[in-house]
Amino acid sequence: MKEVRLRFAPSPTGYLHIGGLRTALYNYLYAKHNNGKFILRIEDTDQTRFVEGAIESLINSLHWAGVKYDEGVFVEDGKIVEKGDYGPYIQSKRLDIYQKYVKELIEKGHAYYCFCSKERLDAVREEQKIKGLVPKYDGLCRNVSIEEAKERIANGEEYVVRLKLPHDYDIKFHDLVRGDIVINTNDIDDQVLLKSDGFPTYHLAVVIDDHLMEITHIVRGEEWLPSTPKHVYLYEALGWEKPTYVHLPTVLNKDRKKLSKRHGDVSVEDFRDKGYLPEALINYLALVGWSPEDNQEIFTMDELIEKFSFERVSKTGGIFDKDKLNWVNGHYIRSSSVERITKLAIPYLKEAGLIDDKFAEEKYYWLELLVKTVQEGLDTIAEIPEKVAFIFKEHIDIVEEDALEVIKGEQVPAVLNAIKEELNKVEELDEEYAKGFMKLVQKATGVKGKNLFMPARVALTGSTHGPEFVNVLVLLGKENIIKRIEHVEEKYL
Ligand code: GLU
Repeated sequence: MKEVRLRFAPSPTGYLHIGGLRTALYNYLYAKHNNGKFILRIEDTDQTRFVEGAIESLINSLHWAGVKYDEGVFVEDGKIVEKGDYGPYIQSKRLDIYQKYVKELIEKGHAYYCFCSKERLDAVREEQKIKGLVPKYDGLCRNVSIEEAKERIANGEEYVVRLKLPHDYDIKFHDLVRGDIVINTNDIDDQVLLKSDGFPTYHLAVVIDDHLMEITHIVRGEEWLPSTPKHVYLYEALGWEKPTYVHLPTVLNKDRKKLSKRHGDVSVEDFRDKGYLPEALINYLALVGWSPEDNQEIFTMDELIEKFSFERVSKTGGIFDKDKLNWVNGHYIRSSSVERITKLAIPYLKEAGLIDDKFAEEKYYWLELLVKTVQEGLDTIAEIPEKVAFIFKEHIDIVEEDALEVIKGEQVPAVLNAIKEELNKVEELDEEYAKGFMKLVQKATGVKGKNLFMPARVALTGSTHGPEFVNVLVLLGKENIIKRIEHVEEKYL
């Protein structure tokens, strides 16, 4: 059997869209499920959209997400390199290849030179619109002979090359998600294949490259579906075997609109910066448009590879549900080591101004305890500073109503006083001592249960609920606890 080869072929427009990552992921999963190859090709033939550093950022995002490819464009030591036997994998380096096939198409009568100016094309389109017709090229240059065309080119006239579609011809292909598709050429434009700057259009380059790179399955977003008949016709014109097509439903937001930059986060980097773990994003994205046979929701990459199939990809848009993503992310945060989450949390804590480099280094274990204290309840890493900010405060102001109520209790002065006294008996409050600490306060005051713990918690955190109290004691330490209690005594008792 032929080796299965799939490719992800993004245009380097500056960032990797979350929908693009899902496309890459499905390509990857299918390739690996079939012991095939996955290839990264860069489609940069639209030079007007060139963005500095875009290839690197794309590759970094794929790398971060753990979507690995076997061939194509890589970044090594900060440099772009290519690996594989089918290169170059960057389209702007393949211009001579496209020229060769353009010539062949012209010679075989499947393409023609077109000299129409932009003004003429605009005028044609305007007229068609007025007449209520679908705007398309009117075919004026279809009949320019090759000899005449060559002469005009020699005279310096600007030109493009267009695909010469036969009239009234049914182009047929099968899509694994959408089934059989038939489009008549009367409904399709004579697509430009080669632009006046000598660069191919996407349509030409994609077909030539997919063929030469021996791509067996083309898996891409459904926005490319209208282009596919033109591609299929090119395969036929060049006498090449067609690949298998799979068009994926668009990733939509809850309002069933395309996820766009205007509506918030769409780039993979945005999600990384918001504190999503790569395996959580991948796990969740796999489920946007695909569903397993059972109700499994948490998958490792290997499980996804094993279970993934196009039969279970839906035709309709996949809804991107942030709450569900948060739930999946929370799951992965909870099952990660404290060390991993702490290391990820440090940049956020620095950014929030809670710690600096020196602090992160000298008090690393304290930070681990800090993170461990809130790890259970997190949706994202970015939430950590907000959740731990109370530990860093100079003193605690009590604002919550139920907390103010608690601190009015008649036993409170005795409890707070006993906390200070018990603390003064030791050098520092280590974890062992902290564990038995409230028992000592209980013994000293005779107060127990809620009446003991609530005021202590409120005085030290400002709230009646919150993380593991023993951890709070250790994190604050003797000096801070005393300071906080004195502040509460002064202000609220
Ligand atoms: N270069 C196209 C893009 O940016 C690739 C489409 C395809 O996969 O054929 O999405």
